[in-house]
Amino acid sequence: MYNSSHSIASNLALTATVSLVVGFVIGYPGWTLALALLGWGLYQVKQFNRLQQWLMSIDHTDVPESRGYWGELFDEISRDQKRQQTRTQSLRNVIHRFQQSSAALSDAIVIIDAQNHLEWWNRAAETLLGMKTQTDRGRSVINLLRDPRFVRYYRKNVYDDPLQLTSPIQKEVVLEYRITRFGAGDRILVARDITRLKQLEQTRQDFVANASHELRTPLTVIRGYLETFLDQDLPRPLQRGLSQMENQSRRMENLVADLLLLSRLETSAHVADELPIPIHSMVARIRDDALVLGQEKRQTIELELEQDNTLLGQEAEVYSAVSNLVFNAVRYTPAEGAIKLRWWTDKEGGHFAVQDNGPGIDSIHLPRLQERFYRVDESRSSDSGGTGLGLAIVKHVMLRHGGKLSISSRLGKGSTFTCHFPHELIIPAAAEEADKD
Ligand code: ADP
Repeated sequence: MYNSSHSIASNLALTATVSLVVGFVIGYPGWTLALALLGWGLYQVKQFNRLQQWLMSIDHTDVPESRGYWGELFDEISRDQKRQQTRTQSLRNVIHRFQQSSAALSDAIVIIDAQNHLEWWNRAAETLLGMKTQTDRGRSVINLLRDPRFVRYYRKNVYDDPLQLTSPIQKEVVLEYRITRFGAGDRILVARDITRLKQLEQTRQDFVANASHELRTPLTVIRGYLETFLDQDLPRPLQRGLSQMENQSRRMENLVADLLLLSRLETSAHVADELPIPIHSMVARIRDDALVLGQEKRQTIELELEQDNTLLGQEAEVYSAVSNLVFNAVRYTPAEGAIKLRWWTDKEGGHFAVQDNGPGIDSIHLPRLQERFYRVDESRSSDSGGTGLGLAIVKHVMLRHGGKLSISSRLGKGSTFTCHFPHELIIPAAAEEADKD
């Protein structure tokens, strides 16, 4: 930084000394000193005025000419201004490039400040979200995107999962909103057009539902004839062949039934009519069915059920989810194995766990186990008579109830499959009693 104090002081000292020497020579040291200091002061004021005028002028390129320390000061300020201009220009270039590249994006990008005001957005935000450049800057994002589902999502402050909604200005466009926090409470909102993806997903769902539905009738006819033939007194090799055909057609019927159930579950994200499901009696029914299924295996099925709370939900769906887990345990656990069914509640909600001491599952399979048709061991699964859709059904039932399925397993030790239901769906036993009174 420029330091002029030394040169000003030495210049003043020099002026005073010279004027005093001259003053002594001519015999008026006092007057000479006073006049010299007055002249020196006027000169400083004049240079200061020039500096002020120059700094206040619009065109800083016209640097005032001066000698000595004032000249150095003007030059230093001028150099500093040039450095600032270069820095500002490169920042402007960066911002310009950022704006150009984000304008070219097809996703809407909106920057929202800590007070929820719209700060900046790209061109796609105007076409997808309806923002207007002039009038909307500084407006609250919630005043602009008023859909209650968006408002709830925005206020939740936890943005792990994206939100899917139709565009506020184009009803046929489906958007996926994602919000990320940055800085001191600021947020960046990205909205992506997923209409095409949704259409493809819908086509896939429709195809599976229609194909499964159409397969049902021919399969019923084939099985009907096979059963009639098997009742006849036929030669042994024919009997064996027909019985295998009957087995496979039963498998196909199960597959079609599971595919239809899955496509029904996929049609809406939430259950509409939640009704009370008494846990204890439902689990008892499932246990009885499981004992029949595993009759020859002589497994033990132990129950450990906490108080008899009521679960709100779609009984047929919950029954299907829980029984799928229990029947899997029966099918995959070897003879004389131990299976335990547990139900408990805590502040997070209600949990239903199916624990077995069967073969267990290698941890590399766990992340993909809930995908449809994903199988750990093809031969093991087809022997068990499963369709490969059981866990996908459980996953969808849980999603529709606002819950989730978790799996923990150790190879050679056994597995635990747990359905977690949110606490809004649990009516404590005490509350039920009070309602009855
Ligand atoms: P499947 O009809 O083949 O049983 P699921 O979706 O129900 O299909 O299960 C997927 C895979 O998970 C099964 O193929 C099986 O390998 C594995 N699996 C499920 N339950 C168990 C269990 N209790 N013990 C060991 N493996 C299991």
